Amino acid sequence: MLAGCLLDLDLPQTDKRLLTIAETDGCLLDGISAATGCQVGRRTLRIEDYGKVAATFVHIHQEQAVRIWPSRACRELAQHYAGGAPSQWEAQLIGYQRLPAELLLCWSPVSLVTPLAALIGQAGSRARCARCHEEILNQREVVQPDAVLCRACAGQAYYTRLTADDPRPPEPEVAACPELVALWEGFGLASRSGQD
Ligand SMILES: [Zn+2]
Repeated sequence: MLAGCLLDLDLPQTDKRLLTIAETDGCLLDGISAATGCQVGRRTLRIEDYGKVAATFVHIHQEQAVRIWPSRACRELAQHYAGGAPSQWEAQLIGYQRLPAELLLCWSPVSLVTPLAALIGQAGSRARCARCHEEILNQREVVQPDAVLCRACAGQAYYTRLTADDPRPPEPEVAACPELVALWEGFGLASRSGQD
């Protein structure tokens, strides 16, 4: 909500003018999602996992960004503002609702290291990796001088394959797979056979 004030945006948004980059996963994301309307499924919420309760809010049209994080004293201040709450948990629950934003939170304008256009990518863009043959969405392919690769095949994988199928052979075309053709015909989709 503070980000909405700082960036002059009505929140929760019903469009895609705000992009939020959260710095941890967990319940913080649910709160951010409810307050801002940013959602992973709408490509307006993403995670850079630094293990921090912090987030950067980006006005996509104006390319302004502000990073917001909790003040160091917010837990103690919450106790004070909660007025005799029976537990620390309830003190934080109540106190955080009553604390003025300037005591609860800190904020600073920031500039994104990765250009916004590259961060978002081109929705609807599709490529195919020359090595694993899997489809790559939203311009996340790595264009090398001799091939277009997915990030995993370009050496940026977060996993290691446990099978010796690298590089994998291309999967057969749908039209060459009798089981799939029969299945599609059953759904009245035979005319799509062979299409990607
Ligand atoms: Zn690949």
